[in-house]
Amino acid sequence: RAARRTQRLPTGGLTSLLGAGREYGAVDLAVGTPEWPAPPENLVAQAASAVAGYNQYESPEGVRALREQIAAALGAAGDPVDPETELTVTVGASEGLCVALLSVVDPGDEVIVFEPSYENFLGGIALSGGCPRWVRADSAGRVDPDDLAAAFGPRTKAVVVNTPNNPTGHVLTREELDVLGALCERHDTTVISDEVYARYVFDGRRHVSVAEIPSLRDRSVVVGSLSKSHAISGWRIGFVRANPALSSVLRRVHIATTAGAAGPLQRAVVQSGALTERDWDPTAGMQRNRDRVVELFSRAGLECLVPEGGCYVLADIRPVTERASDEFAKRLLVEAGIVVAPGRYFFGSGAGGDELVRIAFNRRSETLDEVERRLAAFG
Ligand code: PMP
Repeated sequence: RAARRTQRLPTGGLTSLLGAGREYGAVDLAVGTPEWPAPPENLVAQAASAVAGYNQYESPEGVRALREQIAAALGAAGDPVDPETELTVTVGASEGLCVALLSVVDPGDEVIVFEPSYENFLGGIALSGGCPRWVRADSAGRVDPDDLAAAFGPRTKAVVVNTPNNPTGHVLTREELDVLGALCERHDTTVISDEVYARYVFDGRRHVSVAEIPSLRDRSVVVGSLSKSHAISGWRIGFVRANPALSSVLRRVHIATTAGAAGPLQRAVVQSGALTERDWDPTAGMQRNRDRVVELFSRAGLECLVPEGGCYVLADIRPVTERASDEFAKRLLVEAGIVVAPGRYFFGSGAGGDELVRIAFNRRSETLDEVERRLAAFG
């Protein structure tokens, strides 16, 4: 008999839709996998051939040179971090999130999570034995400070935030983070901040990390990843950043779970210079893609929320259908050959999202040309 905690893992509902998408030869705008080679100009792929000879265990906390480059990249963004004591390389942000939750949350503790949110937060919370405490965001992805304050209680152990947000695209402002910081101080709560989309922030906004907020710097775990920022989601390279004391706990859990991300791939990233490349900036291209996807789906009648960051557009389907988003997504697949993600996958409480679909826009422009043709024929 499987352990009870496994019953609370998310169902992974998208997978069946993606299988159907392949059957119909559909254009996939459901998952967030980037559609381009690893930038800049495929340097990472070239570097992969330079790792010969690195076949054994590396330090579990990650190849030192890679931690230095991650620290330099975070530092360049105005956020100094000590690679020796504050950074740990993980098997993607996925492992980072689990390690953070397993390190902080005891069975029965409450974990505040915003809704809608990335489905896998629920996975890490389930594995840690924590109980999700949902706080509903408004249609722009913002959380009311009173609702947030009301969610805190004696069992609150952690808050999971995600900025820029998947699926709303909301970028948390310094003011919002200050409010969160004050609440976390008052209730002695740790923030686990998923910042995997930090590179994608639009319209001149700036990503603010929780580590920049004085009240949160020492009570936070920042989770990052190269999956989306550097288009290497298959390499499984992410990181966690926390103060030295918390980092040493994170490292022990990380050793117990994976004992480290793949050494040769870490070395390949270092040698590629991908993290230190100054001239490469994906933001403008992503913003153009965002605008194009918003335009295409608005023209098709959906009401799009223009995302402030990230790589997804959340769209309200009520102007075009009275049906639930699962059915709309199925119709879009069968009649137009386009896969989008039904909104309810982002509502872990089990209620909500039926009027929403999520559309990924980290795609090549040829793919968006094809989407335009298909949508034009969709009645
Ligand atoms: N966090 C968020 C918000 C995501 O959208 C994703 C990937 N879709 C992840 C974490 C997982 O990232 P990784 O590939 O680094 O495990």
